[in-house]
Amino acid sequence: EAKAAGRNRHRFFKSQMRDQIELELELLTDLREGMKSGQFEAYFQPRYCTKTGRIKVVEALARWHHPKRGLILPGEFIALCEKNGLINQLGSIILEDTARKATHWRRLGLDIKASVNLSPSQLNAPDFSNQLHQILKDQDCPGSSVELELTETLLMETNINVHENLAKIRSFGVQMSIDDFGTGYSNFARLSEMSIDCIKIDRSLISRLPGSEAIVELVIAMCKLMNVRIVAEGVETAKIAAKVKELGCDEVQGFYYSKPMSAADLESVLLLETTT
Ligand code: C2E
Ligand code: MG
Ligand code: MG
Ligand code: MG
Repeated sequence: EAKAAGRNRHRFFKSQMRDQIELELELLTDLREGMKSGQFEAYFQPRYCTKTGRIKVVEALARWHHPKRGLILPGEFIALCEKNGLINQLGSIILEDTARKATHWRRLGLDIKASVNLSPSQLNAPDFSNQLHQILKDQDCPGSSVELELTETLLMETNINVHENLAKIRSFGVQMSIDDFGTGYSNFARLSEMSIDCIKIDRSLISRLPGSEAIVELVIAMCKLMNVRIVAEGVETAKIAAKVKELGCDEVQGFYYSKPMSAADLESVLLLETTT
């Protein structure tokens, strides 16, 4: 009887695994189709200046309008894209959409920068900086309207393509930040060597405040010495908002202030801000 139960359990897991694989394959087919037919766009979450309380930067976050399943978040498709060689294509879609929207805001007289998440594989592509240059040109978007969010692992990257891309991108006037800082192998020496403009302290450290105060203070002190701006990400409560301001973060981002929203919704928020 124990054996039969074991066999059943085994069958159950096997069929569950098969369901999982089928689901992923279906999503992958939809993904390819969705990229061709314009189902992806950037939503935006504001980053506020702690000194003025105004929006300085907005982070572009990929959203998928699936014809049957509705709005799908990156947690369900970024890793799948990376695994299947589709992330560079998705990255270009989001970059182009963001550059177009940034140009629209600039023409409305709004003074904000749009920040875009980059996958390491995009910077590994030898022609990435040329592609970016072309996108900015086509969309009439100055490099100074854009910031790129890189991952901490890129700080340790030795691939020559990555460094050549970064140098070229910098020459366009595009700023660079390190996203999710404090979750990986943080290396302050590499931060200054690579002339990073800004770091974003990861939500996992911010949400543990005041417990993580010592490490957050250390990160902030090092960044100030190196003239690197500091963003606190994932600020969810008034208490934490007050704390990160007290500790000297330059910008704040999180659900406490604002959730990611469509470009149209963001435009209303930005226009309202200019009248107050
Ligand atoms: P990220 O770049 O660290 O972006 C912040 C994520 O945290 C966003 O999730 C945002 O909605 C969420 N968030 C913001 N404030 C709060 C908060 O106060 N509390 C909590 N719990 N969450 C908060 P989202 O949009 O689901 O994106 C997840 C991740 O997917 C991003 O993390 C980024 O790594 C990746 N991603 C999104 N768009 C792109 C893209 O266009 N390209 C690439 N390569 N990756 C992307
Ligand atoms: Mg980010
Ligand atoms: Mg982040
Ligand atoms: Mg994060």
